[in-house]
Amino acid sequence: METNPLIEAWAQTHKCQLQCLDAEQAGTLEPALAADLGPALLLPDVAQVRNPRLGRALRASLLQRGVGLREHTEATGLLSRHGAVQGIRTGTGEIHAPRVVVAAGAWSAQILQGTGLELAVTPVRGQMIQFQARPGLLRHIVQYRGHYVIPRNDGLILAGSTLEHSGFDKAVTAEAREELTRRSLELVPALFGFRVIRHWAGLRPGTRDGVPKIGEHPAIRGLYINSGHYRNGVVMAPASARLLVDRMLGRESITDISPYTL
Ligand SMILES: Cc1cc2nc3c(=O)[nH]c(=O)nc-3n(C[C@H](O)[C@H](O)[C@H](O)COP(=O)(O)OP(=O)(O)OC[C@H]3O[C@@H](n4cnc5c(N)ncnc54)[C@H](O)[C@@H]3O)c2cc1C
Repeated sequence: METNPLIEAWAQTHKCQLQCLDAEQAGTLEPALAADLGPALLLPDVAQVRNPRLGRALRASLLQRGVGLREHTEATGLLSRHGAVQGIRTGTGEIHAPRVVVAAGAWSAQILQGTGLELAVTPVRGQMIQFQARPGLLRHIVQYRGHYVIPRNDGLILAGSTLEHSGFDKAVTAEAREELTRRSLELVPALFGFRVIRHWAGLRPGTRDGVPKIGEHPAIRGLYINSGHYRNGVVMAPASARLLVDRMLGRESITDISPYTL
């Protein structure tokens, strides 16, 4: 089987193994998959994180380090004077700061409205479903023709996802549930009989090229942006945060920031 040059380059950059499997090997590795999927590429070093747990761990770690968090507090405007940021406005008062980072995902462009920067970040809705399967039914994340299934250790299997340009609407739809269920059963017939126990939607911060925007506002000193991570914001979070912090503190950068600057 021929590998995809993009996947090859990715595996090489990240020093990950890449193995080509024929259909029989793929079927032996994952017997729950449909029989007629053909050969497969295996990336045995790729792992997964459970994002809700990651979020909780991040929150706990920040609190442990004494970082002040204001949850459920909307930033309603930016404060700036003489071309420098002064802080933000919220529903419960102003917060003054010499440096502000806009990291509001799909909503980042709204926050920057009126600052003279048209940030090309728009919402792209993604719906997912979750099956209550059994542990070990599937052991690897499987991607096939734009659809993917992610097995968790406790038997849950996530399946997704849709790509929808429907504004800031986070509602779920019956059509998407049906389509995601159908495609999951086609890919993993062994899922038949297991219930879909969750269905949800999120808004990805979409950019035209999928490349995030990281750096300082061109006209307002101290105002920084870290947004537009589209389909990979969890994976890219550590590196993009580090990149921006290095820039803010004038430190040597872990990598060239220029592909991401505004
Ligand atoms: C279905 C689906 C599957 C995905 N799968 C993956 C995956 O497998 N791997 C991966 O790496 N990425 C994945 N992503 C993409 C990932 O979720 C995003 O890239 C990532 O969440 C972007 O992070 P962010 O912090 O920039 O934005 P968000 O996670 O959207 O966070 C922005 C936050 O800002 C808050 N906010 C907005 N406006 C304001 C305001 N005015 N005041 C205060 N707060 C505000 C929002 O409430 C939100 O909490 C997936 C996304 C979806 C929808």
